[in-house]
Amino acid sequence: MNSSLESFPRSLWWGESKEPACNLPPVEGDLDVDVAIVGGGITGISSALHLAEAGLSVAVLEARHIGFGASGRNGGQVIPGLKYDPSDLVAKYGPEKGQRLIELAGGAADYVFELIERHGIRCNPVRAGWIQAAHSPIALEAVLRRAGEWRKQGVEVEVLDRDGIATSTGTTRYFGGWRDPRAGAIQPLDYLRGLTRAAIKAGARVFEKSRVTSLTKRDSGWQLGTAAGKLRARKVIVATNGYTGDLVPKLAQTVLPVQSMQLATEPLPADLARRVMPGGVVLSETRKLAFYMRQTPEGGFMIGGRGAVGNGEDPSLMAALERGMLRLFPDLERVKIVHRWSGHVALSMDGLPHLHEPEPNLYCMLAYNGRGIALATTFGRMMAEEIARSIPAIYPRSSIKPIPWHPIRRPVMGLGIRWYWLKDSLGLASK
Ligand SMILES: Cc1cc2nc3c(=O)[nH]c(=O)nc-3n(C[C@H](O)[C@H](O)[C@H](O)COP(=O)(O)OP(=O)(O)OC[C@H]3O[C@@H](n4cnc5c(N)ncnc54)[C@H](O)[C@@H]3O)c2cc1C
Repeated sequence: MNSSLESFPRSLWWGESKEPACNLPPVEGDLDVDVAIVGGGITGISSALHLAEAGLSVAVLEARHIGFGASGRNGGQVIPGLKYDPSDLVAKYGPEKGQRLIELAGGAADYVFELIERHGIRCNPVRAGWIQAAHSPIALEAVLRRAGEWRKQGVEVEVLDRDGIATSTGTTRYFGGWRDPRAGAIQPLDYLRGLTRAAIKAGARVFEKSRVTSLTKRDSGWQLGTAAGKLRARKVIVATNGYTGDLVPKLAQTVLPVQSMQLATEPLPADLARRVMPGGVVLSETRKLAFYMRQTPEGGFMIGGRGAVGNGEDPSLMAALERGMLRLFPDLERVKIVHRWSGHVALSMDGLPHLHEPEPNLYCMLAYNGRGIALATTFGRMMAEEIARSIPAIYPRSSIKPIPWHPIRRPVMGLGIRWYWLKDSLGLASK
């Protein structure tokens, strides 16, 4: 069985990178910093960039290499917003705080594209919007309500009827949808490498092959241990998302790490490139375990969906993803699939990202529920502003609460995912 952890060299992005690999040394000896960050994904590197720009001394410790986690292998869809609609946020947090959260999450994609421009990151940014495609008439109602809510927030949304979505995507399987023009597509590994370059230029120290194996309180700060070095820090940010281990007690039990798997084809022939997800638009469906798709920077087609639970990839699920792709776009049969890979996302029970401060000066940010490019970038900035400039994070903190029955939820979820794929292959989940 193939390992999901080790699937990164199979990913499309590793062979098609324009930003050079970071190739950074491991941490050695003793180091003292204001802020130590565990994890070299978007959360960790965005935090480091903004902290360093504010003049703090900061060190990122990445267990493997920059982009090893989800940030270097995702679908590259830059989607703003939380999975809650604006009215849900107002209902949950009240009008004032709710509105500030809508603006924080709603502006998250804008901020990614702003950073790309500011730092000259070569990551093929395209801003042609995100289509959320309705898989059923009921889902269409919800999608149209959502589009209406964002329109009230001043976003120039586009509503797509059945014909409109067929023209925009090249498949007749959807009932309609909406297009959010704030969204776009990037080459995610290049985005992260470019952010890392910017963070180092701003003064951050970034170490690869530096797994943090211990985290202990020391005086008013923290001490982090790795195989070859020790770090003392006033504050620590843990940014390990779907790769969270046991550094912070019970943190790993607050999320369900699950694989998202992807495949990508060779460049499409011109007739298909004009029809199948043309013009740089990205899409995800309304189904609970949804497909997401786009064209690649080289003009191939790329689709993703929910994979296995745990670290072993399941070839039967990968085959089901391929069959799903052909149901949507039968003409893709004549195109070769050239990449298959997977990574871990962290799901929370409430569908929202979590910010914890389990001890003073120890922060954890995780659970972007498969939408971390924009949100993790924004969370990194938000936390840096609190630490460096005393601007309190608008996103609410929550205590670390393990998901009840966590050890048995994982196998149960694994069975649920298999059942879903079986239904999908029988055409039952796609109605
Ligand atoms: C296949 C796939 C497709 C996706 N598609 C999209 C998409 O299209 N759009 C979108 O917005 N989101 C997408 N996501 C989700 C998105 O990639 C994540 O939400 C986001 O990258 C999380 O970033 P992060 O920095 O928090 O975590 P990660 O990028 O996962 O980084 C965590 C890092 O922590 C390191 N680490 C763990 N433990 C330690 C330790 N003890 N010491 C040191 N380092 C440690 C790991 O090695 C890892 O590099 C996708 C995810 C996957 C897997």
